[in-house]
Parts: sequence; C-alpha cells; structure tokens
Amino acid sequence: MKKLLALLMVLLLTFSLVACGGGEQAPTESDPKEQATAENAEAIPQIGVTIYKFDDNFMSFVRRAIEKNADGKAELTLNDSQNDQAKQNEQVEMMLSKEVKSLAINLVDPQAAATIISKAKEEEVPVIFFNKEPSAEDMASYDKCWYVGTDSSESGVIQGKLIADSWKAHPEWDKNSDGKIQYVLLKGEPGHPDAEARTKYSIETIVSEGIEVEELELQTGMWDSVKGKELMDAWLAKHGDGIEFVIANNDAMALGAMNALKAEGYFEGDKFMPVVGVDAIPDALTQIEAGTLVGSVLNDAANQGKATVDLALNVAQGKELLDGTTWKLDDKKAVRVPYLPITLDNIQIAKDCYSE
Ligand code: BGC
Ligand code: CA
Repeated sequence: MKKLLALLMVLLLTFSLVACGGGEQAPTESDPKEQATAENAEAIPQIGVTIYKFDDNFMSFVRRAIEKNADGKAELTLNDSQNDQAKQNEQVEMMLSKEVKSLAINLVDPQAAATIISKAKEEEVPVIFFNKEPSAEDMASYDKCWYVGTDSSESGVIQGKLIADSWKAHPEWDKNSDGKIQYVLLKGEPGHPDAEARTKYSIETIVSEGIEVEELELQTGMWDSVKGKELMDAWLAKHGDGIEFVIANNDAMALGAMNALKAEGYFEGDKFMPVVGVDAIPDALTQIEAGTLVGSVLNDAANQGKATVDLALNVAQGKELLDGTTWKLDDKKAVRVPYLPITLDNIQIAKDCYSE
C-alpha cells in the first residue's frame, strides 16, 4: 500500500509537470483514471531479460515461451547479447538504471555470473539465471538469485541410452564388425555445463551399457549448424565410412552434420549413418519422422521459458519465489525441467511442446 501511494505521488508529480508544460489542468488525487494507471503500473512490473544470442536455434524457442508467458503480466526489456559478455554487462547496467524489478539472464559466459550478481546486488534486484547455470559458489553468493534450467547430466545419460538401444537393435551399423562404436562427437560450447555433461555422460552411459567405443573425432561446433556441417565435411573426407555414429550435443549441430552426410549420398538407398542430437526442435522432429535422425532428447523450451517468467514475475512483485506455481527448488536454488528421450514412438510429446 505504501508502495502504491509512493507510485501515485510520482505519477501525480509527473502529470502535474506535464500538465504545467501543456497548460492543462493537473489531475487531482481522486481522479479515478490516474488511480487505475497507478494500479496497472504496480501490477505490470518491468523485467529485464537477456538472451546470450538471438541467433541460437534452441534459445529462439525459449525466447518465444518467455514472451508468451509474460504477455499482459510483465513489461519485458528483451536484449540480444550477441554472444558478447561485455555487451551483456552493459545491457544489465542499462536495465538496472531503468529500475527493472527483476532480471532474467541467459549468460553469454557462465563464468560471468559473479559480475552480473555484483551489479544486481548493489541495487537489490533479484536475478533468475536460465539455460547457462552459474557455479554453485556464485549461486550461493547472493540470496536473491536462482536458476531455471535442466539437470545437464540427465540429457547425456538419456542420449547415451538412446545410442546404446539403437546400436543393439542394428548389428549392421557395426560396419567393421569389431563390436565397437567408432564415433565422432560434435560438442557444444566448451565450459557450458550442458556441453560438458552431455559429452561425458553420453559416452559413459554407452560404456555402462556394455558397448565398447572408439572416439575418432571430438571437436566443438559451438551449438551451431553451419559449424556442425563444416566439421562433418572434414571428418567424412578423413574417415569416410569408418565413422559409425554421429553424436551431437544439440540438434542444430546434428542437422548440420546431416547436411554434410546428405551431400555424400547418405540417407539414400541403404547408405545410412546413425545421428543423434538433443533439444528435439521441430526441424529435428521432421528428420526423425523421415527416418533419417535416430532420435533426440527433449529440452523443454516451453516449460523453461514458463518457469523463468513465473519466478521472475513473482520476485518482481515482491511475492514468494514459487508463489502460485508447481515448480520445485533443489538444493542448488534451481528449478530443473526434466528431459525426455524422443524417438518416432513418442514424437508427439515433442511436437506438442514446440507447438505451444
Ligand atoms: C541447448 C542448445 C543451445 C544452448 C544455448 C542448450 O541447452 O541444448 O541447443 O544452443 O543451450 O546455451
Ligand atoms: Ca565398429
């Protein structure tokens, strides 16, 4: 109530100033129209959002989910950090100076969380990080910061299981009949918790399923389709059919690799190469339906966007973080949206997620 009164005073002052300039009569305190505006401003808080780069396939779906869930509830300032941490730091400063009520931050560099936290802490503005998880130490350094994302290792385990199951079902994929999977791996951005965990746990899971592996190549394609294609072009030129499996940390890179494979005549007749990704974005689902992509792991953009807005909105309005939601917080102050294996059998789940 005190806040509302203060806001009303500010509005009145602004309006009387404007009114003075325009020679109009200043509205009085009891003006019902003014009161409505003040209540509205209180109900619709400003939230500052950064996306590490708009030009990221998966993040464009998270962004859409954020916009959709904030519609009519919050006024978003949405920033494209263009993969530049210095730029993101400036954007955060700018939003803090505009007195946003909370921040939702998709870091460029997960190591930069401390910088963002110190800026937000100074202004006592709460921060919801999403998609790139800060270190436990950084998370513990500010009582008003939380994380929305996934359990990164879960995606690696699910992908590994998917690879092992499909490999066991297709003995013909062991082209050199040595009982081992000769694989190439397209890694996401180094240092990104998702990239590190997917790389580690996909392979560990295959091995724990009793399958031997041999790594032919492992390089970062930076989550990017074009880079995925370039790497795959080079690897095909070097190893040709010596490659028996393409493991990608995300679908964008998997799809890029598939373009390289298609150019070499794969996926025609009986020339096949098993490829798996993560995210289950619509373009990947099309390939699964066509029988070209073995499978993917649903990274639930819709719910991650929703949880980000739910939490950012609650703290912006001074409510309890999880007020009115069904989200649960773990001991790392994180809401974790589960992953799901996606193959042709259950493809509809992923379609529904992305059609919202
Ligand atoms: C997604 C990637 C995306 C990355 C961005 C990951 O969770 O799987 O597709 O590029 O987040 O940070
Ligand atoms: Ca083999």
